[in-house]
Amino acid sequence: MPTCMSRLLESWESNCYCACIFVLYAHYFTFMYETGYMHAPSTLVGVDKRGIFTVKSAYKVQRAAEQRRSTRGCQSSSGGSVMKEEHWKGLWKIKCSGKIKHFLWRMAHNSLALRMGLQRRGMEVDTRCVVCQRMNEDGGHLFFKCKIVKPVWRDLLLEEERRTMGEMNSARGVIEYILRLPEKKQLQVVTLLWLWWQERNRRREGEKGREGAQLAVLIAHTADKYMKIGRPVTVPGPKTKKKWQRPDQGIYKINCDGSFHADTAVGGWGYVIRNDAGEVVLAGAGHCSHLMDALHAELLACQEGIKKAAEQGMWKVIVETDSLLAKSALETNSFALASIGGIAYETKSLMNMSFVSCVLSFCPRECNQVAHALAAQGCMCSQNADLCWEGMPPGVENLVASDIAEPLS
Ligand SMILES: [Zn+2]
Repeated sequence: MPTCMSRLLESWESNCYCACIFVLYAHYFTFMYETGYMHAPSTLVGVDKRGIFTVKSAYKVQRAAEQRRSTRGCQSSSGGSVMKEEHWKGLWKIKCSGKIKHFLWRMAHNSLALRMGLQRRGMEVDTRCVVCQRMNEDGGHLFFKCKIVKPVWRDLLLEEERRTMGEMNSARGVIEYILRLPEKKQLQVVTLLWLWWQERNRRREGEKGREGAQLAVLIAHTADKYMKIGRPVTVPGPKTKKKWQRPDQGIYKINCDGSFHADTAVGGWGYVIRNDAGEVVLAGAGHCSHLMDALHAELLACQEGIKKAAEQGMWKVIVETDSLLAKSALETNSFALASIGGIAYETKSLMNMSFVSCVLSFCPRECNQVAHALAAQGCMCSQNADLCWEGMPPGVENLVASDIAEPLS
C-alpha cells in the first residue's frame, strides 16, 4: 500500500473522505492497471482477487485497518466503541435505499459535515445550528434536540426513540440502537434522519424550510414504501387504460382534487360524489388563497367532499384522491400539531364519526378527471367562493360520461 494512502486510511480524517476517495481511487487504479502503468495488483489496497480495484475491496481494507486499531487499543474515530462486524452487516441490510445506507455509514463515522465537526478540524465556521440558529450544531442537537426537529419525531410517534438517542454520546451508539428497533420504526427513524439531513442542507442553501407535519407525512410515506419492498407485488394484468371505477352497490364514491399555484399561493378544490350507477349526486368547487402547499389544497378538497357527504347522511363512502401524500396524511395518526395537521386531524375525525363505513383510496390522475376539472374551476372563481351542485355541474358532462362508458373491446 502506498505510504501516503496507508497513513490516510489509518488517520482520523480517513472517515471523512474515504467514501469519496475510494471511488476516485477505484477509477484511478483501475485505469492505471488496465493501461499497464501499474503492476503487482496484490500490493495495492483495494484490489480484489481478479486484480480489479473495487470500492468493496477498498472498504474491506479500511475495515481491517480499523480493526487493527481497535485491537491495539486505540480509540475509534468516533470516540465511542468500535461497531461490531454484525452491526455493519445489519446496516447494509436495512431495507432502505442505498443513499440512506451510505448516509448512515457516514453518520456512524462522524463524517457528516456538521459545523462543530468542521470547527474541530480547524475550519473557521459559524457553529450555530443551520436550522434554529441557536445552539451549536452537532449530531445530537441537529437530529434529536433541535426545537424544529422535535415536532417531526412527535408527529411520527417516535418521541421515546428520539429521547433515547438524544442522550447517547456517540453516533455509533445511535446506529446500534437503530439496528435493534423493530423494522417499521427502524425504517421511519432512518428515513427521518436522512430527510432531516436533506432539509438542513436545503435550508443552508437558502431554500424555504418545509413544515414539520409535511416532512412527517413524507417520512411516513417513504418508510411505508420501504416496508413493502420484498413483499409479493400484485402483477398488473395486460395493459389497459385505467378508468374510474363505480363503487359497489349502496356506496357513494367521493373523488377529490386540489389545485395549487406555488407562485401566488392561490388554488382551488373540487369534489364529485357519485352513486353505484356512476351518476353525479353532488359536486362542489371552491377557491382559496393563502394556501401553504399543494397538500393543503388536496386536504381541503377531501374535507369539503367528506363534509358534504356527511351532511347528506350518506352512510357508506369511498374517498378517492390522486395525492399519495394526502392519503398518508389522512391515514397516519397525530398530525394535529402543525397547520396542515389541523386539517388532516379534522378530516380524519369527520371520516371516523360520520359514516358506517368510510374507505380512503388512492387513484391515478386519469381516474380523477372530474374532480380535477372542478378544482380548476374553483381556482378560477372569485375569492372564497363555494359552489355546490345537486347533480351534474356544468362543463364536466363529457368527463363524467367517459368515466362510465363501457370499454369498446
Ligand atoms: Zn437547531
